[in-house]
Amino acid sequence: MARSIVLNSGPRGFEAHSRNWRSFRLCYPVISRRSRGLSLGVNLNPDRVCNFDCIYCEVDRRDFRPGKSKLPLPPRNAPRPQVSLEEIKEELAELLRLARSGEIWQEPEFKEVAPELRRVNDIAFSGDGEPTTYPLFDQAVQVALDARAEAGFAEDEVKLVLITNATQLHRPVVKAGLRLLDAHNGEVWGKLDAGTAPYYDLVDHTNVPFEKVLRNLLETARHQPINIQTCFLRVHGEGPSHAEITAYCDRLNEIRASGGDLRLVQLYTVARRPPNEWVTSLPDTELEEIAGVVREKTGLEVETFGGNIGLD
Ligand code: SF4
Repeated sequence: MARSIVLNSGPRGFEAHSRNWRSFRLCYPVISRRSRGLSLGVNLNPDRVCNFDCIYCEVDRRDFRPGKSKLPLPPRNAPRPQVSLEEIKEELAELLRLARSGEIWQEPEFKEVAPELRRVNDIAFSGDGEPTTYPLFDQAVQVALDARAEAGFAEDEVKLVLITNATQLHRPVVKAGLRLLDAHNGEVWGKLDAGTAPYYDLVDHTNVPFEKVLRNLLETARHQPINIQTCFLRVHGEGPSHAEITAYCDRLNEIRASGGDLRLVQLYTVARRPPNEWVTSLPDTELEEIAGVVREKTGLEVETFGGNIGLD
């Protein structure tokens, strides 16, 4: 799942966001606000295929052939571009080496990074699609764990993070990966962009039922604490309604009442221009108002990450 709150503005380091770094195909370094430092991304979906089609997604899936608008999804059993565990291992090892030695801060994109951000915070499974659709997901987690250990980083020094739309969390191979994450100080950041099925359909644009996402978030949160991450935005100038925010809080409360452990809610808005120009940021004031409502109705800790796309 694409990380949407990495900034590409500002002179002190929140810039240069790209999943294509040097000759690397799968791993990429970014400075992110949410990580408050360097995050090493692992993109398990270089084909840009995702089972969601979020209207705010920064991944450009437009088909520029005459008369076309969207890249067609490949047939269900079509061969996918190969993502080898060996390639992940090699690229991640090199990024960790550059970070460990400090050489990465001499790279043109990172020379201006502020001193307080010159730290590796995490290795994040986050890319051009949903990472848990990768058939060897548990093995990819193990490769990242090994690479971190071999580079000499401790578990509490560089976290492993899974950024996911939660649609595949029920699959055995994903559950095995979740267990590995949980056993090694890893975190799960699960997406929940709505409180009602119609709004979910509008924003996330998928045929995966809303109920399935809620069920997977609950089942996962029953076994390990998770963070919820939510993108609120304006669609053709309209933000989420009061009723939608109330319903969203109800969903969070239901997860907790059923035994789910929610550690943190991250509310963000569009911070990078998506291909859909009718999708714009919520102003900071509105995002903060929503955060206040969520805190009041759920008692959860809430962080916000603003943006200013389409607000000028
Ligand atoms: S889950 Fe949404 S934001 Fe993430 S890659 Fe898929 S379409 Fe993009």
